[in-house]
Amino acid sequence: ALQCGIVGLPNVGKSTLFNCLSNAKAQSANFPFCTIEPNVGVITVPDERLNKLAEIEHPQRVIPTTVEIVDIAGLVKGASKGEGLGNKFLANIRETDAILHVLRCFDDDNIVHVDGRVDPVRDKEIIDTELQIKDLETIDSRIAKVQKQAQTGGDKQAKIAYEVLCKYKEALEQGKSARTVSFETKDEQKIAHDLFLLTDKPVMYVCNVDEASAVNGNKYVDAVREAVKDEGAEILVVAAKIESEIAEFDTYEERQMFLQEIGLEESGVARLIKSAYKLLNLQTFLTAGPDECRAWTFHKGWKAPQCAGVIHTDFEKGFIRAEVIKYEDYISYGSESAVKEAGKMSVEGKEYIVQDGDIMHFRFNV
Ligand code: GDP
Repeated sequence: ALQCGIVGLPNVGKSTLFNCLSNAKAQSANFPFCTIEPNVGVITVPDERLNKLAEIEHPQRVIPTTVEIVDIAGLVKGASKGEGLGNKFLANIRETDAILHVLRCFDDDNIVHVDGRVDPVRDKEIIDTELQIKDLETIDSRIAKVQKQAQTGGDKQAKIAYEVLCKYKEALEQGKSARTVSFETKDEQKIAHDLFLLTDKPVMYVCNVDEASAVNGNKYVDAVREAVKDEGAEILVVAAKIESEIAEFDTYEERQMFLQEIGLEESGVARLIKSAYKLLNLQTFLTAGPDECRAWTFHKGWKAPQCAGVIHTDFEKGFIRAEVIKYEDYISYGSESAVKEAGKMSVEGKEYIVQDGDIMHFRFNV
């Protein structure tokens, strides 16, 4: 399953945010969440299209797609040298597909800041530095392995790898994250990807603010915006504490009312889930029938056989073709047979790049 890791310094509000996500009562009908381990939660990805399809098909089961969220506690200054939970923490991050970086953007004299003063930009740099040091270690040990081959012999792969590693090393030594480095060729990209660098993972900054700043942010959020403006990363403003209190109310209506009272249409948590899905570069295809309507997750750009493999590996191996209906057609014609009669169903082969919202039917050999 795809995972987003929540990182940040102690006391910035990571657990508050995680609890907000995992609180049973926080489930608006659209966001069922369950905790599978103390620090791992599974969140359903809200998708209006799936609901609409279910209204047409009246299937026995409706199964949305999910993303896992992991609360990664224990990152402090010096983690890369083994301080705090240090290396264990870093290993946890390595397993995630994307990072939600929580930054403290609220004042509260009662809550100690590990570095004395509220300064989200400095906090971000502390975390970045720890991750960069770790990546630099990875790079250095790889360089030690390929350097000789690359410089002496005719090993072309080793040469390419060496160049990729040097480019990363240069960036990291300047205090930049691996994600700021890009590569032109497929070979280079493959080598880069296979390093699984911590600072290469897509990141989203979650500014944790007080109630009064829930809508417009504050000076801390502005400072974060300025500091990350070249990263192209998304910034999300969430008032985690008040939202976790609102999440305690029993009914959806009550929760909506209190959200509106602080000026919000949609909970920060709901926005967070949607943004996380985008951050992971994920899209959804759908399957529809009388037994089951279901949403399936795939990576943007995947071809039909790969997507078939999401359902079952046999579907990928024996792939013959895919019958594709566009979501809008399904809805406007009102049934699969009506779409077919109108000639709006297309038959696609191995090279078809599946689009977000496609309703797929795979034909395969067994
Ligand atoms: P973590 O160490 O990053 O997981 O931080 P916690 O979620 O445990 O939060 C640390 C403390 O800050 C707790 O006492 C929270 O209640 C408090 N806290 C979290 N978010 C906010 C906020 O937005 N405003 C205020 N005033 N306190 C908050």
